[in-house]
Parts: sequence; C-alpha cells; structure tokens
Amino acid sequence: MNIIFASQNPNKIAEIRAKLPGHTIDGLDPNLFPDELLETGLTLDANALQKVRQVYEKTAENCFADDTGLEVESLDGEPGVYSARYAGEQKNSEDNMALLLNKLEGLSNRNARFRTVVALVWKGQEYIFEGICKGHIITQKSGSKGFGYDPIFIPEGYDRTFAEMTMEEKSQISHRGLAVEKLVQFLSELND
Ligand code: IMP
Repeated sequence: MNIIFASQNPNKIAEIRAKLPGHTIDGLDPNLFPDELLETGLTLDANALQKVRQVYEKTAENCFADDTGLEVESLDGEPGVYSARYAGEQKNSEDNMALLLNKLEGLSNRNARFRTVVALVWKGQEYIFEGICKGHIITQKSGSKGFGYDPIFIPEGYDRTFAEMTMEEKSQISHRGLAVEKLVQFLSELND
C-alpha cells in the first residue's frame, strides 16, 4: 500500500520505512509542497492534524504526519510543541540543546520525555496515535548519530544517549517508533 508521510526529513523517513516494510512510504514531493507545511497549533495533536490535512487536501491520498516534542519536567513541559524552534526560528539543534542545558543548570530534576503524535488520514477518516519515551537530560552532549536533542537524551533503562544508538536500536524504543508501532498495528488489522 502507498502512504504519504508528511515529512522531508530523511532521518525520519528512513526510521519509518524500516518499521513499515510492507508499505511504500513516500516523503513529500517537493514540487507539490515547495514550502514547509504550516504548523501553527498550540499542541502536538493540533499540529499533526494540521499537517496531515494539508497533505490530504492536495493529494487525496492516504497519508500521515507526526509531531514530536521534548517535555522537560522541571521546565513545566518546555520546550514541548516549540521543540524545533526553542532557540529561534533558525531551528538549529545545537542552539536548542545549548539553551535547554543552560535552563537546566543547577536543577536536580532532569526528567524528560519525548512524545510523538501521529495523525493518519485513511480513506478520508482521521486517526491519532501517540508514543512516549521517558528518560532524562544529561549535562553534556554525547554521541553523533540521530538528530535534534538526541545527544543529550538518555532513555529510561539505558546508559547511552539516543545519539549513541543505531537507528534500529533507537527506533525500537523511541516515541516515534512506539507511535508508528500503533499505526502499523492499525494498518495490519485493516488487512485481516
Ligand atoms: P518534529 O515535530 O518531529 O519535527 O519534531 C520537532 C523537534 O523535536 C525537532 O526539530 C527536533 O528538534 C525534536 N525531535 C523530534 N524527534 C526527535 C528525536 O527522535 N530525537 C531528538 N529530537 C527530536
């Protein structure tokens, strides 16, 4: 089955293709979507739905979109829905991590979680799936794989950051992996 994934991030597309081997996952066609999709919602759910609706309106194809936020306990859930542009509209991961580490300086509670919301439009109907990965923020970056906040996040039960894991390893326990797992389950039940 063909499904459009509303993303142009090659890391994410690769992660999700690995989870859905029975399906053809196309990223966004840059000719059809030359500009970034609008993401003006105040919650992850609102943004995921906003993105998938833009794709469905233009393509009328089955499609899904994800929105992820890093929620830090002692910062009242910051950066949350603003994770990509925490340190400014340049959306720079180094700047975002530096700002976060700065805000956490001197705070003993470094608990955090990644939360992903996947919104699917399937045959014109909307569905929502959620995945959560708990962990904590370390004091210095470690590792060079992955993207975003990966070098400063250690998932619960591990002693390595996401940036020190292979994509397969991360994907098995990650927020996005778990949300996509629910999407996969949903799609496989449709085929039964
Ligand atoms: P998005 O909604 O998936 O684009 O995520 C928003 C922001 O959260 C990204 O720009 C990254 O900074 C961060 N982010 C999302 N997923 C991950 C991840 O798996 N690891 C680290 N950072 C992530």
